[in-house]
Amino acid sequence: MKKKEKQKRHLSIKSSIFISMSVLVVVMLAILWLTQSVFLSHIYRYTKKNETEHAASIIVDNIDNENLSLLIEKLSVEYDLCAEVIRYPGDKEVLYDSHFLNDCIIHKLQFEDTLLDFWYDKAQNNGGKYIDILPRDKFREFGYDPDDFQGDVPKRGGDANCVISVNLATTSDGGSVMVILNSFVMPVDATVRTINLQLIVITIVMLASAFMIAYVLSRRLSLPIEKINKEAKNLACANYDVAFPKEGPLEIRELADTLNHTAKELSKVDAMQKELIANISHDLRTPLTMISGYSEVMRDIPGENTPENMQVIIDETARLSSLVNDLLDVSRLQSGTQKLNLKRLNITEAIRSVIKRYDKLVSHNGYIINFVYDEDVFINADEVRILQVIYNLMNNAINYTGEDKTVTVKQEVKEGIVRISVIDTGEGIAEKDLPLIWDRYYKVDKVHKRAHIGTGLGLSIVKNILLLHGSRFGVSSEIGKGSNFWFEFKIL
Ligand code: ADP
Repeated sequence: MKKKEKQKRHLSIKSSIFISMSVLVVVMLAILWLTQSVFLSHIYRYTKKNETEHAASIIVDNIDNENLSLLIEKLSVEYDLCAEVIRYPGDKEVLYDSHFLNDCIIHKLQFEDTLLDFWYDKAQNNGGKYIDILPRDKFREFGYDPDDFQGDVPKRGGDANCVISVNLATTSDGGSVMVILNSFVMPVDATVRTINLQLIVITIVMLASAFMIAYVLSRRLSLPIEKINKEAKNLACANYDVAFPKEGPLEIRELADTLNHTAKELSKVDAMQKELIANISHDLRTPLTMISGYSEVMRDIPGENTPENMQVIIDETARLSSLVNDLLDVSRLQSGTQKLNLKRLNITEAIRSVIKRYDKLVSHNGYIINFVYDEDVFINADEVRILQVIYNLMNNAINYTGEDKTVTVKQEVKEGIVRISVIDTGEGIAEKDLPLIWDRYYKVDKVHKRAHIGTGLGLSIVKNILLLHGSRFGVSSEIGKGSNFWFEFKIL
């Protein structure tokens, strides 16, 4: 029940894209609607007022300029306004005049004292400046008749509002002048109605487009994901023969690539695991068969109870316990439960002690073991584990070395790093096998040589111990010439 509730909250790709796009459309339209419809009139009035104020301040700044007349005309054309500069208070002499709007207030009532007084007072009370937007009817009280155009055709409707700007200034000769500007703010109702209609059409078109885009996008995204999901379910059922389709956008193709690689790796791991079990069973069975066989013979046949037969049983038991120990080591090292007991260790001495173990082999079987080094070197390591590493590498070298039965251990010091190399003159390892020999139970030739040589876990143990120490290690090998297994440690 809870699971169902949780699932409900997850939207499909299609719904998510459609909802996101719809939100985007709604936000964009809301912004459009607010700026183009609701606040259009305010924005328009604000702009017009600003423009008129700006023109007035230019005129005031240039009040003594000899080209002021030209400047006023230019501003009148640019900002669509009428302008008048008169001496006031005083003789009401008109200094400059531009008459561009035939139904303007200032040119109809220019010498109307009450109006000039009214504007003068307003400006004076407001630091020399006055600007306002007023309906034309407001000027009736000063004798203005909006319907009387003295034969001129009115440019704007009777309900246009007047922008009046009055600035007081002083000329260089000390005279007071009044700069009066008049422009108009037209009603925007009709424009708003048109824009509203347009917005409705745009909304419908954009929502339909959002739906279409969401549909196409979601198909492009969800179809490949659905296919990948189907294949992933197969993979979950241990069917490694799957192929994730590389379709759709880049990220989904990359996901398919990763999953194909994962399936390949999983199938390898699965194969290795099966091989591992087969190998372990084989390796456990061989000594067990020997032990039980020899014990039965010794029990049933008088005279077979010989020390030689007894030695076989002892040897096989030792091999069994070494195999079990190695298996335990590998699993402990790989699971991370194995902790290192780090100490200052004389690595040169450690190598000497391991080589000593082979004394018998050297004197009886003609093996030659060389140790090349300059001086004793100390490192920080777990002694028991490092001895295991050296022992395993030397064991392999001895087992796989060539006719000359020679193994060389080299200790080289360079820039504070000691490199230990175990070199043999055997068959070598093919390049393709080199990265794989460190895997547990990997054998280069599929002949089960381990019954005679090792447990097949040696290099896996070496790798995990060296990884735990954080040291660099590797192998170089040449077919027919031999192999060189090496590892490095920082010198103390
Ligand atoms: P084992 O030696 O018991 O088979 P290891 O893990 O020690 O197991 O080695 C894995 C494989 O790597 C060996 O089976 C062998 O094929 C290869 N190998 C290891 N050391 C050498 C070497 N010195 N020369 C040639 N091949 C080697």
